[in-house]
Amino acid sequence: MASVQLIKVNKVYDGGVHAVHDFSIDIKDKEFIVFVGPSGCGKSTTLRMIAGLEEISYGDFLIDGKIMNSAAPKDRDIAMVFQSYALYPQMTVYNNMAYALKLRKVPKDEIDKRVREAAKILKLTPYLDRKPRALSGGQRQRVALGRSIVRRPKVFLMDEPLSNLDAKLRVAMRSEIVRIHEEVGATTIYVTHDQIEAMTMASRIVVMKDGYIQQIGEPNEVYKNPANMFVAGFIGTPAMNFLHGVMENGCFVLDGTGEKIKLTAEQKKLLKNYEGKQLVYGVRPENLIFEKSERFEKFKDCSFKLKVGMIELLGDIINVHGEVGAGKAILKMSNEYPVKEKTEISVAIDCEHARFFNATTGKAITPEYCEYEEVEITKSLDEDNVVIIQQKPQGLFAKAVEAVKSLFKKKTKPEPQNTSATESEPDQGEAVEPNTDDKK
Ligand code: ADP
Repeated sequence: MASVQLIKVNKVYDGGVHAVHDFSIDIKDKEFIVFVGPSGCGKSTTLRMIAGLEEISYGDFLIDGKIMNSAAPKDRDIAMVFQSYALYPQMTVYNNMAYALKLRKVPKDEIDKRVREAAKILKLTPYLDRKPRALSGGQRQRVALGRSIVRRPKVFLMDEPLSNLDAKLRVAMRSEIVRIHEEVGATTIYVTHDQIEAMTMASRIVVMKDGYIQQIGEPNEVYKNPANMFVAGFIGTPAMNFLHGVMENGCFVLDGTGEKIKLTAEQKKLLKNYEGKQLVYGVRPENLIFEKSERFEKFKDCSFKLKVGMIELLGDIINVHGEVGAGKAILKMSNEYPVKEKTEISVAIDCEHARFFNATTGKAITPEYCEYEEVEITKSLDEDNVVIIQQKPQGLFAKAVEAVKSLFKKKTKPEPQNTSATESEPDQGEAVEPNTDDKK
């Protein structure tokens, strides 16, 4: 079907609202990509730019390697499914699905073939002669999907298609859409504010905030290794706990209580630049261990006291909400242990599943990002058109930066005019050509 590429795509609305900043992604053929983030983060704007319903202010949008910025929506070979899937009430399911093809003057027997094929995938064959009012909400949503499928577009776009359905139906439709995607095999971009939809449906998730991409990754990767505190807090329920404290003599000292949480040798190595500095210890609720659990002993050097407040019963598991010094924490555990509200319990951190964050920037501290100060790398051209890379402050990577600098000097000096040549390479003229494309 199709690959989709966005290169530094921006949207600035009239009036100056910069809704999407430098959005870049390489979407492979058949991927199921989910854009997720809170309301107003720019998900729909990005999707609408892909559909051609919104102009791209600057940046490039490509389908199968061809620039499509200025192609009309109908020439993009894209089908969009919205949350309000207005079906024609007077038409049967069959005619609802066939309508767009009739408008396109597709031969009758071809229409019949495609509608019956889509109905089979969507399990709608027994309902083809019914009118929409005689269908359930889930079946109606499937008809809406069917209208897109029969067109055999290169790319499917879905904007919160399940948000009008009740909770139970949403869960059922989630797996239906995944199944349909597997059968149809089309590249799909799906927008939702619901992180559970993102986690359960996506082959890759794009987490957005304030118009910026925060992280792109497979669901498990984003869950286990969130790039920053926003992603850590947004993906997963209840959200990841953030324990605030200071690094002292190889221990994490909790703000408020002064309790010391021992760090492993690996963690000490990772945090060596943070001695005496404020840090955030991130741990998911299921990675906090209750004192009566068998696993507690293994991690007891990494324990702290939790003042239990509310307990949420969720059937086989409970969420224990509590206070740690000046902060809060939630422990998610089996319902088998008796925990009482308004008591104090010991809780250990499964330090093998923890993540540290820079308290100032909110970024995850990883072997690649472990400087205390924000490292700023700037690139500029000097009077001989030689690329100059500068790093502030000079730190751990100074030597590496020097090496890169000399490399760039060698490369750029003999052919300085090359920089502008590559920038103007994409030919906008190509964007109008898909008119002649054969839809198959
Ligand atoms: P989301 O889909 O993530 O909820 P949107 O893409 O709809 O977010 O909106 C992103 C930002 O752009 C918001 O701040 C919104 O107010 C703004 N916005 C959306 N449409 C317009 C418009 N037509 N004119 C000006 N600002 C807009």
